[in-house]
Amino acid sequence: MAHKAHSLAGKTALITGSTSGIGLGIAKKLAAQGCNIMLNGFGDYESVLEAITAMDVQVDYHGADMGQPNEIENLMNATANRFGRCDILVNNAGIQHVAPVETFPTERWNAVIAINLSSAFHTSRLALPAMQAANWGRIINIASVHGLVGSAQKSAYVAAKHGIVGLTKVTALENATSGVTCNAICPGWVLTPLVQQQVDARATQMGVSNEESKRSLLAEKEPSLQFTTPEELGDLAVFLCGPASNNIRGVAWQMDGGWSAQ
Ligand code: NAD
Repeated sequence: MAHKAHSLAGKTALITGSTSGIGLGIAKKLAAQGCNIMLNGFGDYESVLEAITAMDVQVDYHGADMGQPNEIENLMNATANRFGRCDILVNNAGIQHVAPVETFPTERWNAVIAINLSSAFHTSRLALPAMQAANWGRIINIASVHGLVGSAQKSAYVAAKHGIVGLTKVTALENATSGVTCNAICPGWVLTPLVQQQVDARATQMGVSNEESKRSLLAEKEPSLQFTTPEELGDLAVFLCGPASNNIRGVAWQMDGGWSAQ
C-alpha cells in the first residue's frame, strides 16, 4: 500500500473550501502525507480531484454549501460512507465582506457568520463522536489574525474569526483527556482569490498598479512585508496532525509575519 512510511497514511481528511487557496494548499500537503482526502468548495473541482488523485491517495468531492446545516450533514454522512470516518477535519471555507457596521448588509452578516463560524460548529459536532470512539482525531480551524485583533470595515469577519478561536478552545477542553485535539491557525495576508479581490479594490481606489497595491496592503499591517503561502499553512497543518502535536490543545497559532506582535 502506498505511503506507509508516512504517519498519516490511511487517515481521512476533510478540508472544507478546498477548491482554492489555503484549503487547496492544505489538502495537497495532507495528501502528500498519505491521507485520503474529501474535497469541498465551489468552482472548478475536477482539476483539483485530478491533481490529488495523481498523488496516489483516495479522493472524493462533495459540493455542500457550508452556509446550510442540512448540506453540511450530507457532507459529513458522505465522508463517513466513503471513507469510514473523518479523522482530520479542517474547517477552512470562508468569505469576506467589507463595509462599515452601519451599512453592513444584514444578509452578508448572516452569510459570513454561517460560513465562517457556524459551519465549524456543525462539522465538529458531527465529526466528534467517531473521533472520540477511535480516541484519535484532529480538528484544525482556519481562523485568521482577525481572530485575535480587529480591522475596520470587517465586523462580521472579525466577529466570526474571534468566535472560531473561542470554539477551538472549548472543543479542545472538552476532549483534553483524549487523543482528539483542536487548534486554530491564524494567517495574516495570504495571496489567494479572497485577498486578490481586496488588492484589486485597493488598486482602483488608490489609482495604483497591482504590485503597488500589494506592497501598500502588506506595509499597513504585516511587518515581514511578505504574504504567507498556502504551502506554509499546509506544512503547519501537517505538523498539527503529527505525533509531536499530541499535547497542543486549544492554541490560536499565528502565521502572520508579525502582524499581531505589534
Ligand atoms: P479562497 O476564496 O481562495 O477560498 C475559499 C474556499 O472556500 C473556496 O474553495 C470556496 O469555494 C470555498 N467556499 C466559499 N464559500 C463557500 C460555501 N458557502 N460553501 C462551501 N465552500 C465555500 O479563500 P482563502 O483565502 O483560501 O480562504 C480560506 C480560509 O482562510 C478562509 O476561512 C479565510 O477567512 C481564511 N484566511 C484567509 C486569509 C488570506 O489572507 N487569504 C487570511 C486569514 C485567514
